[in-house]
Amino acid sequence: MSIFDSPTLNKLMSIPPNAKEMLRKPEKKMTINISVWLDSKTLVICEGYVVYHNTVRGAAKGGIRIAGNVTLDETTDLAERMTLKTALVGIPFGGGKSGIRMDSKNLSSYDKKEIIKEYVHLLRNDLVSGAYIPAPDMGTGPKEMAIIYGELHIPECVTGKPVGIGGLPGRKEATGYGVATSAIHACKKYLKKEVKGVKMAVQGFGNVGSWAAHFLNEKGAKVVAISDVSGGLYNKEGLDINKLSEYVKTKGVVSGFPGADKLSNEELLALDDIEVLIPAALENVINEKTAPKIKAKIIVEGANGPTTTEGDKIIDNNGIILVPDILANSGGVIASYIEWRSSKSGSMTPVAEVYKSISDLIINSFERMADLGKKEKLSNRNASTVLATQEVINAMQERGWI
Ligand code: NAD
Repeated sequence: MSIFDSPTLNKLMSIPPNAKEMLRKPEKKMTINISVWLDSKTLVICEGYVVYHNTVRGAAKGGIRIAGNVTLDETTDLAERMTLKTALVGIPFGGGKSGIRMDSKNLSSYDKKEIIKEYVHLLRNDLVSGAYIPAPDMGTGPKEMAIIYGELHIPECVTGKPVGIGGLPGRKEATGYGVATSAIHACKKYLKKEVKGVKMAVQGFGNVGSWAAHFLNEKGAKVVAISDVSGGLYNKEGLDINKLSEYVKTKGVVSGFPGADKLSNEELLALDDIEVLIPAALENVINEKTAPKIKAKIIVEGANGPTTTEGDKIIDNNGIILVPDILANSGGVIASYIEWRSSKSGSMTPVAEVYKSISDLIINSFERMADLGKKEKLSNRNASTVLATQEVINAMQERGWI
């Protein structure tokens, strides 16, 4: 269901009927068929989805996900979140997303290259015109963005490129940096303490989870648990994040890392000695089954949509503070905006400036969300959604859409 149909949101704010009609459905939904010959000499035809949710504030912006369970509904939901995310942090982009239904684990780099080239072939007009600007998401990274650039030779048509070909220093780690910034700010605000020594658990050790853990570890947080698709690790003294990153570079997964106990993904969520929990892998992991068991005081959503509506209610009733995805993981799109701007102008942006922009925009939006929440007695989820929706409505009025 679209968030704009949610009875809670419609009780909290009055969305003009025309705006609601435009927002409850995406502007454009496309299904594409990507046919490629794989390395194994087999022909594969996989379905892909491209959704532009709303572009009143700018071009559709959102990552490309490659995963075996991607659906059109999921891609639509993620595009809608992008509309809200860019609006909340004040980035002049709209919301978009792509999903390619293919299990990325079984693909060679040749296979991925062929799939991305075909994706570009099918979407060329929108990419060349700048109507949609892709970036990495689960199953894609700088390499795939480099292939898109290589097919089009337009620097601003894609973000998340490798630094050597017009990418932005700091983009790769930007989402994790923003998640860490959100967690640090939440500790100060709600626990009234610095992050040093605060025990945390991170689910997911891909792009978002590994960089979030890296920056939090650097600031002295004790990351006691990490998990990924292979299972989880626990060490009550804190895991050695640098050694774990090296280990994952060679082994591909966290399991088997020495000096830590094993634990399951469900056990990680329910740990009783952590203050901050960071789901940074999958959707819907905090739900009616798992939410009642959560003992952490703060949840920082690194992943998109890790908490279901039922999970949200339980978290809220149990007095757990949640920093929502549209704020916590916005570092990636903030850096993408800086990369797009630099690519268009041909200028270079130093990494310190990238980090500063991410911190400034996230902390500023965090405070606006918290202020509204305090004034209107709203959860962070509701306050952030109201603020972002209002920005989109304002833009619709300014552009004469409504
Ligand atoms: P990734 O592919 O780099 O990593 C995903 C991680 O999740 C891996 O460690 C994988 O092992 C783990 N995982 C997969 N299945 C799992 C399971 N069943 N149980 C536990 N762990 C599992 O993806 P990513 O880019 O880090 O994205 C993670 C989340 O963050 C997604 O929801 C994505 O939409 C969101 N996000 C990513 C970015 C970005 O810049 N990459 C930006 C904003 C939001």
